[in-house]
Formats: sequence, C-alpha cells, structure tokens
Amino acid sequence: MSKKRKKKKKNKSKMPFITKLTFFVAALISAFAVYNSQGEVYPFEVHYIDVDQADSALIIADGKTMLIDGGEIGYGQRVVDYLEEVGVEKLDVMIATHPHSDHIGGLPYVLEHVEVAEAYISPFVHTSQTYEELLDGLMEKNVATNVPETGSTFSLGGAQCTFVSGGAGFDDCNDASLVLRITYGTTSWLFTGDAEVPAEQAMLASGLELDSTVLKVGHHGSETSSSVEFLNAVTPEIAVISCGKDNSYGHPHDIILDRLRNVTTYRTDRLGSVVLITDGAVVSYLDEGERRTVSNPFDGIGLYIGNYNGDKFHKVGCEYMPAFQNMDFYFTRDSVLAAGYDPCGACRP
Ligand SMILES: [Zn+2]
Ligand SMILES: [Zn+2]
Repeated sequence: MSKKRKKKKKNKSKMPFITKLTFFVAALISAFAVYNSQGEVYPFEVHYIDVDQADSALIIADGKTMLIDGGEIGYGQRVVDYLEEVGVEKLDVMIATHPHSDHIGGLPYVLEHVEVAEAYISPFVHTSQTYEELLDGLMEKNVATNVPETGSTFSLGGAQCTFVSGGAGFDDCNDASLVLRITYGTTSWLFTGDAEVPAEQAMLASGLELDSTVLKVGHHGSETSSSVEFLNAVTPEIAVISCGKDNSYGHPHDIILDRLRNVTTYRTDRLGSVVLITDGAVVSYLDEGERRTVSNPFDGIGLYIGNYNGDKFHKVGCEYMPAFQNMDFYFTRDSVLAAGYDPCGACRP
C-alpha cells in the first residue's frame, strides 16, 4: 500500500448509510440546477437560436427569460427543444417583432408548450392564419399582451430594455418591426427584427440611444437594412446574422458584409446557434463545449461499496462485498477512487 493511499484512507470516516443517503438526495436536488460545463451560471446570455432562414433569440438576464421571435411555421418544436436543453421552463417575456411567418411562425407552438407571462407585439395587423394563431394563442393562455410605444421600457432582471422602435406608422410589415435595445452593465444589445431603411431613419430621428455593443443585423443581413447611417449610429463591436445556409434570398448580402468588415461577425448559417455572454463588461462568444446545459443528475451515478477493513471497492452483488457494518458507500466511481479504494478484480466495478 502506498503512503499516499494510507493518508487518504485515514480520512475515511464511518458515516451511517442513512446519513449518506440524505447527502445523496440533497446532492441530487441541487444537481437539477442549470450550469455551464464549468459549473457557473452566466449573469447575462443571448442565444441566437439556429432556425435556418428566420429569427429567434433567447435572452437570459439574472435568471429572467425572454424570447424574441420563434422561427418559421414548423420550427416551434426546435425552439421549445432548445429552451428545454438550456433549462428554460418559463418565459417572462415573449416578443413578436412583426407578423411575418419567419418570425412568428413558431410562436403558437411555443405558447402551447411553455408558460409565457407577458408579450409585446407590433401594431402591424396581418391577415395571415399564422398571425391569427399567434393572437389566439396569446389570448387562450391569458398572456398579458402589449403593443409598445417607441421609447417605452421594461426591465428583465438587471437588464434595461427600451423599444427604440414601436413599429407604428409604417405600411410595410418589416418596417413595423419592434426594435429592442437592451443594456446590461456597460454592454448593449440591439435586436432589429426585419426593420428596413425607413425604420432605421425613424430610429435615427427619434434621438434614442442606438449605440450598441452587439447588433442583431437587420432582416437577415439583407441590403434593404443596415444603412451606413444606421451602422454609424450603432457602431457595433459584434454583429450576429441569423439566416439559413444557402438561402434563396442570398442573405447576407455582400454589400452588408462589406459594411461590417471591421466588426466581429457571427452567422447562424455557418455556426448554428450563436451564444454570447457577458458579466456586464466584456462580451464573449461561447464555444459549443462551454455552453449552458441542464446537468443530468443521474450522469455517472451508481452504487460503489468500499470496505472499511480493506483496499478494494465492489459492485452490489459481488461475492467479495464486505459485511454490512464494513460497507463504505459511494455514488460515483470518481469518489470511491478518490477515497483510496482500488476496483475489485472479480466484479470489475
Ligand atoms: Zn425575417
Ligand atoms: Zn419580415
């Protein structure tokens, strides 16, 4: 026996099984919390969900949640699955930027499956069936629904949200997009929907603050949006383009990519869902492995039995299991190894 192991084994204390079981249950309950792979929770996260040639963004601010748009008809399930994957069970706010189906198509499904407290919709009225379904869904689920005015604000956790366009006074559905600017700490985030140049001009004329750290590029990177004047006012450090791979519109258009040539740009058609996080000062892109997941409390859990009078640990049922009073219970292989036991050669736990 090595000196090291001897030392470790000295630390083993006999703990009654029932006490261990209590710890185990407590550990299980806490394991249901949502962590990233490093075990931390980011204060502010934006997930530009990959919904192909459409828009959908999830914002999590101090645990409060908001969904801006929900992809095309038929993509609601993808959005709901994504919410589940990252542990979002309830939406504090839902925003339908404008009634085009690539923005609201998935929202009726989301309403069916996820509790939504409050919604903001554009004043633009559409006659499509999808739009009717959205309104019906909001009504059926008793979601407090507002048509915001330009300049109106609300908060989401510690984030301040301002509608820099309420979308009123436009004949064009895209221009009627609700445009939301969020500030969190010293960072700012602009969500433009499909607002085109006329809406951009109205925003510039409003005098509202447009300068933003991160810009969700208008209308999937179409040349109908992102005018030079608008980009000069926003001066983004980071741009995100939500569009489909090889989409028939040719989005993002080259002229827009050229205007963004000095801006770090992330595209959902190339990267899939794009996740950005901040502590309120620095914005970072999260690689796949660093992203939020719901930890599975049963991952890697089993029952391993050490022997207070020996060096080996066993699986339940092994013929070399110690007598009950000498059983030392562990629920993960890592923990039984860390306690200094070696696997039994017979049951190979
Ligand atoms: Zn669109
Ligand atoms: Zn649109």
